[in-house]
Amino acid sequence: MEKYIGKSVLKGIAVGRIYWYQKQDYQITKTQISDTDAESSRFKKAVETAKEQLSKLYDEALVNVGEDHAMIFDIHRMMLEDDDYLEAIDSSIQDGINAEYAVEMAQNQFAELFASMDDEYMKARAVDIKDISQRVIRILMGIAEDGIPADDPVILVADDLTPSETIKMDKNKILAFVTLRGSSNSHTAILARSMNLPALVNTSMKPVEDWNGKVGVVDGFNGEFIVDPEQELLDEMIHRKNQWVADLEALEQLRGKENVTGDGRRVEIYANIGNVSDAEAALAADAGGIGLFRSEFLYLGRDSFPTEEEQYNSYKAVLEKMEGKKVIIRTLDIGADKKVDYFNLDEEENPALGYRAIRICLERPEIFITQLRAIYRASAYGKAAIMFPMIVSVAEVRRIKEIVEQVKTDLQAMGYALGEVELGIMVETPAAALISEDLAKEVDFFSIGTNDLTQYTLAVDRQNQKLESTCDTHHPAVLKLIEMTVDNAHKAGIWAGICGELAADTDLTETFLDMGVDELSVSASAILKVRKAVRDISSN
Ligand code: PEP
Ligand code: MG
Repeated sequence: MEKYIGKSVLKGIAVGRIYWYQKQDYQITKTQISDTDAESSRFKKAVETAKEQLSKLYDEALVNVGEDHAMIFDIHRMMLEDDDYLEAIDSSIQDGINAEYAVEMAQNQFAELFASMDDEYMKARAVDIKDISQRVIRILMGIAEDGIPADDPVILVADDLTPSETIKMDKNKILAFVTLRGSSNSHTAILARSMNLPALVNTSMKPVEDWNGKVGVVDGFNGEFIVDPEQELLDEMIHRKNQWVADLEALEQLRGKENVTGDGRRVEIYANIGNVSDAEAALAADAGGIGLFRSEFLYLGRDSFPTEEEQYNSYKAVLEKMEGKKVIIRTLDIGADKKVDYFNLDEEENPALGYRAIRICLERPEIFITQLRAIYRASAYGKAAIMFPMIVSVAEVRRIKEIVEQVKTDLQAMGYALGEVELGIMVETPAAALISEDLAKEVDFFSIGTNDLTQYTLAVDRQNQKLESTCDTHHPAVLKLIEMTVDNAHKAGIWAGICGELAADTDLTETFLDMGVDELSVSASAILKVRKAVRDISSN
C-alpha cells in the first residue's frame, strides 16, 4: 500500500483500477516493406476499423448532440471511401513504403490541396483529412483514441493534463483524476469539477507503469491518493464512498426548490459550462440558467478555427436546450493556460499578463466578428447574453460595443432575426473592479471572475502549485473588490454575479448574499450544494 497527498479539487471519493495516462507523442518513421500485399491488407483492415469507429461515434453523437454535430463523423466515414485518397496510399505501399508513413504522405498531400482551394467549405476539409488520417495511423500503431482502455472506468493518473487533453476525454471512462502537477484553479481542475469527478492535483507521487490495473482510492475530502490499499482500508473507503453518494442523493430533494434564505432573500444560481453537452448536466442539476459558457473550449482540441456555422450550431443547441433560460456566453478567452496552436501566438514571458482574451479579439477582429455573428444569429433561439473577459478599461468596452453594433447591422441587413441580447463584462482584473463605477454605465451586467481577480490582486499565479498553500482564497482585498463591484453595479441599476470558483465556496455564501450579489454561477455539480447553503441562512 502506498499513500500520497494531493490538493483536492472536488470533495468526493472514487475507488477503482488505476490507469497511468501518458502523452501520446507518436513519431511516424519511414521503413522499407518487402511484403507489400500484407502491408496493403493491414492498411485496408485499419480503414475498416476506422469506419466502424466513426459509425459508432456518429450514433453516439446523434443521441448526445444531435444530427448537425453528428454529421461530421458520417462525412469522415465517407472520406475514408474516397478512391483518390485510398489509391494514393496504396500506391505508396506498393512502392515498399510502410502504411503509417504512406498515410501521412497522403494526408499532407491532400490537406495541402484542400487548403489551397478558394472555396471556404473545401478549405475546411484539410482538417478533416488530417483527422481521418491520424485515426488510421493510430489504429495502425495500436494506439487507443484517448489512450484510456474501454472496459471499466478508471482512476486516471497523469503527470499533468492540459485543458485540450481533458476536454477530449470521455468522462464515462473516468472515475477520478490524480495529477502530479497542476493547481486547483487551473482550467483542467475546473473541467474535472464540471465533470463531477473527485480529483487531486499537485500530488506528491511519482507515477509508475506498475500501477496500471492496481486498485486505487481517491479521497477528495482528505486529499489522499492510495495505491493498492489493504482490505480493511478498502472496505472503509467503499463505505465512505457510498455515504458520499447517499449525501448527494439527499441533496436531490432540493431540486425544484427556490434559492431563498430563511429571511426571504433570493439569489440566482446558474451553471458554468464549457460545451453543449454540459448544458444537459446544468439542466439536470436544476440550474436557473447558464452564467458562464466558456466558449473558448469550442476552440480547443482541434486544428483550425471553428467556423461561424459550427459555432452558431453550438450556441443554438445550448440556447434551445435551456428552453428560454438565460445563457451567458463569454467570448473566447484563449491565452495563458488555454493554448491553441493555430492562433499562432508568440511565446511570452508572462502569458497570464499577456496577449489573452479580449486583447486578442480587439487586435484580430476577424476572429471576434465570426464569434459575435454566430452568437447573434443563435440569439433568435433563446435568451442569450454576452460577456467579455479580461476588461481593464472603458475604452475597450466602447470599442467592443461599436463592433457589436456593426455585427448586428450587418446581420439585420442580411435578413436575420436577432434576439434581445444583454451585454456584460467580466470583472476579473483589479482595474475593472476599481473603475466599476464607470464601467457599470456602459453595460447591462457584471460577472465577477474570482479566479483571475484573485490571481491579479494577490499576485499569485493561479497555475503555480507552489503558491497554492499560501494563497488565501478569502483574502480581504479580494472580498473588498467584490463588494465594491456589486455596490457600483447596483448604483447604476445593473445586476452583478460571481462566476469564478469562489461562487461555490459555501463558507462565503452568506457573505455574498450580505453584499447583495444577485447571481452565483457554479459548476453543475455544485448547484444543489449552494442552494442548500442559501436555504440554511436564517436571518440577516
Ligand atoms: C475567472 O477568472 O474567475 C473566470 C470565471 O474565468 P476563467 O476561470 O475561465 O479564467
Ligand atoms: Mg478568468
